[in-house]
Amino acid sequence: AAKDQGRNRFSYFTPNLQIAAQSRLRLSNDLRLAVNEQQLEVFFQPVVDLASGRILKAEALIRWPHAQLGYISPLEFIPIAESTGLIYHIGEQVFKVATYWVRRWRDLAHPDFQISINQSPLEFQNDQGRYADWLQHLRRHQLPGQAITIEITEGLLLDASTKVATRLLEFRDAGIQVAIDDFGTGYSSLSYLQKFDIDYLKIDQSFTRNLTPSLNDLALPEAIIMMAHKLGLSVIAEGVETTLQRDLLRQAGCDFAQGYLFSKPLPPEEFEALLLAQEASSHTG
Ligand code: C2E
Ligand code: MG
Ligand code: MG
Ligand code: MG
Repeated sequence: AAKDQGRNRFSYFTPNLQIAAQSRLRLSNDLRLAVNEQQLEVFFQPVVDLASGRILKAEALIRWPHAQLGYISPLEFIPIAESTGLIYHIGEQVFKVATYWVRRWRDLAHPDFQISINQSPLEFQNDQGRYADWLQHLRRHQLPGQAITIEITEGLLLDASTKVATRLLEFRDAGIQVAIDDFGTGYSSLSYLQKFDIDYLKIDQSFTRNLTPSLNDLALPEAIIMMAHKLGLSVIAEGVETTLQRDLLRQAGCDFAQGYLFSKPLPPEEFEALLLAQEASSHTG
């Protein structure tokens, strides 16, 4: 009976695996077309300074509008982009779009406005001269490195090779800021935070989501914030959806926050409207 069951299970799963493989192949073909035809869009989510309530930064987040399937989540297509090498082209497009808008928003709204860009470990480790081009591109647009923050995940800091360390030094020399994304979900090592020049910790949404006034829930975010400040880093909380979460984080000394409470990621024109409306209201009262 066990053997029968095993066989049944096998024959039951095979067609599904084929479908999964086929749809993956289809998606990677579609993604290649979308990248070549520059159909991917870059959205921006406000990052709010908790002390003043002002939007001082934005995170660039890639969006793929698929003709038949609608918007496909980056969680779904970034892995495909990585396995096909398309990730480098995507990273390039996101960087170019981000620098265009950060130049504009520094001129229109805030001279120190910053945009952060996500880099998957693969992109960060296989440079192929892209980052040198980035620095040139920034110079051409009269942008200091400080206009850009690179978001990486903490696992990269455990990479024993000198490549990661060298890259981080290059960024530091160019003024480019570095943030550790989804902090607290991986293997977090305090010594690495001190060893490398990291500017921001982004507290993962899983901590924000569980935040209540209970001392127990606050203990971990409070400890992370205190530690970060001692090491000279600023803290950004991700996934803030309620005023209670915002207030607790502010009381805990958190510097910045982003989340649906403030705004979802927006197309650049909508983001700009929000930014300019805020600037206008801060000047009138
Ligand atoms: P991430 O960098 O941690 O980005 C935060 C994610 O949380 C975004 O999902 C954002 O839309 C979502 N989010 C923001 N506020 C809230 C909130 O209040 N509640 C909830 N539940 N979610 C919120 P998104 O845009 O789907 O991106 C998912 C991940 O895909 C990103 O996580 C990042 O790791 C990756 N990604 C996005 N754009 C790029 C890119 O241009 N390059 C690379 N390499 N990865 C990217
Ligand atoms: Mg991020
Ligand atoms: Mg730095
Ligand atoms: Mg994150």
